[in-house]
Amino acid sequence: DFQYPHTFILLGASGDLAKKKIYPTIWYLYRDNLLPEKTKFIGYARTKQSVTDIREKCKKYIKLLPGDEEKFEKFWQSNDYFSGTYDKRVDFEMLNQLITKFEKGPVANRIFYLAVPPTVFEDVTVNIRNACVSIKGFTRVIIEKPFGRDDISSSKLSNHLAGLFKEEQMYRIDHYLGKEMVQNLMTIRFANQIFCPSWNRENIASVLISFKEPFGTEGRGGYFDDFGIIRDVMQNHLLQILSLVAMEKPVSLNPNDIRDEKVKVLRHIRPIKQEDILIGQYVGNPDGQGDEKLGYLDDPTVPKDSVTPTYALATLFINNARWQGVPFILRCGKALNERKAEVRVQYKDAPGDIFNGHAKRNELVIRVQPGEALYLKLMSKSPGMTFDLVETELDLTYSMRYREADVPDAYERLILDVFMGTQMHFVRSDELTEAWRIFTPILKELEEQHVKPVPYRYGSRGPLEADMKLGENDFKYSGSYKWKKPVC
Ligand code: NAP
Ligand code: NAP
Repeated sequence: DFQYPHTFILLGASGDLAKKKIYPTIWYLYRDNLLPEKTKFIGYARTKQSVTDIREKCKKYIKLLPGDEEKFEKFWQSNDYFSGTYDKRVDFEMLNQLITKFEKGPVANRIFYLAVPPTVFEDVTVNIRNACVSIKGFTRVIIEKPFGRDDISSSKLSNHLAGLFKEEQMYRIDHYLGKEMVQNLMTIRFANQIFCPSWNRENIASVLISFKEPFGTEGRGGYFDDFGIIRDVMQNHLLQILSLVAMEKPVSLNPNDIRDEKVKVLRHIRPIKQEDILIGQYVGNPDGQGDEKLGYLDDPTVPKDSVTPTYALATLFINNARWQGVPFILRCGKALNERKAEVRVQYKDAPGDIFNGHAKRNELVIRVQPGEALYLKLMSKSPGMTFDLVETELDLTYSMRYREADVPDAYERLILDVFMGTQMHFVRSDELTEAWRIFTPILKELEEQHVKPVPYRYGSRGPLEADMKLGENDFKYSGSYKWKKPVC
């Protein structure tokens, strides 16, 4: 299909996501010759502006390497912008005419990226369906979260979309699925006989999946306060990672075979109860610098009595033969001590101890960001005359092992997937239904009962109670592991 004309239409082209992420991403794909040669980009929004204005707004988010200047000019020449409303069909008919102008030949394909707020989502999709679908090629639609805010609103949205497009036309972005190490999970699990037979309740004590952010809402808490960290990170990104860690081996690498297994494992998880969850909200650190002094409630865009969690830890159990009884702990928070996303698979203590309790557990760590790495903590004899044990690791650090490799950004990979028609790394509607089934009851309970989150300090590791929860859920931390950064 790559020989035919393609049009990439960005709705909400005047917005934040467009300038920070989408325009830079399509430029990188264009620069690296990854897109079909005859691709035209059209921005659409209500704002009256020109391509030059967009270019100016994107400037500080785009990396331009020396030597790429000419190509960069050509990229912007392939761009167009059209100003129109979101709710008037006639505007979309005019957009359609503009797209059609570039579509010479027997086949022409269209990709619509919806970078618009949820309030206009229904109008926009109806208008695309009525006025802008391709009559001589494919029409694909990329959709950004939020996919609803509970089971009912999400299924309403899914039903609305299902009335307009087929599932194979829809690309729901969860950008965690575009991250290198998340994509690596299947390879690690299913291409290594060393892991396949031990990846189960007989050998694994617990699995900890964490997301940490070192900043708070910093004056932009309005949107966040309505959603909270559970909806913002846990119900989507962390649950997606969980499903890839826990699913059975798919029949093949076909996207629907993979997504079938992801849905199946989610179906084995019961809705979260209050005793399975701990919520927190950050408070200012009086000894901190600048924003660190401010708590969530000090953000002027957040209501003073807000009980919205900025931290959450939830334990999920998968009631199937492989995982029954193994805690899967999901943990995420803002205003913590570091930026990090990782998976820790902690193995059980080696049975029949002959080392007087000195052997520590094996732990496989898959670090998603920053600095992709995969390391397996294991016990070894301390080198030398003694017979002591030492905690050590088998370590695959990407920056050391693959110095030349350029790990693409999640959005680059995902947008390219849409051009190629690969839905493997996009969320199917039944996955979404299951995710909301698991999380809606607890979200409702927390809101209705106005459950107060536990306070934790800006810049800390989160509430102390969270470490206790880890202990209760068979995740052991000894503090004895020491890592020496290899010198090269
Ligand atoms: P945004 O800047 O608030 O909105 C995008 C554009 O939509 C605006 O430039 C504006 O364009 C139009 N718009 C804004 N509010 C509107 C309203 N009330 N009624 C009609 N049109 C309105 O949003 P964004 O941050 O780019 O995000 C776009 C979508 O991506 C949202 O669904 C968001 O949830 C999702 N998302 C964003 C991010 C991010 O990092 N920003 C991350 C994940 C998901 P005109 O006025 O010119 O029409
Ligand atoms: P660790 O020191 O045994 O810590 C494991 C995790 O336990 C920590 O990441 C921390 O995460 C949590 N923790 C810290 N204090 C705790 C407490 N009091 N109670 C409960 N949990 C606690 O092992 P590690 O973090 O895997 O490795 C140590 C350092 O070496 C890290 O900085 C790691 O990045 C680095 N390292 C790097 C590589 C590599 O780049 N290839 C390889 C090996 C190690 P939370 O704060 O998230 O809870």
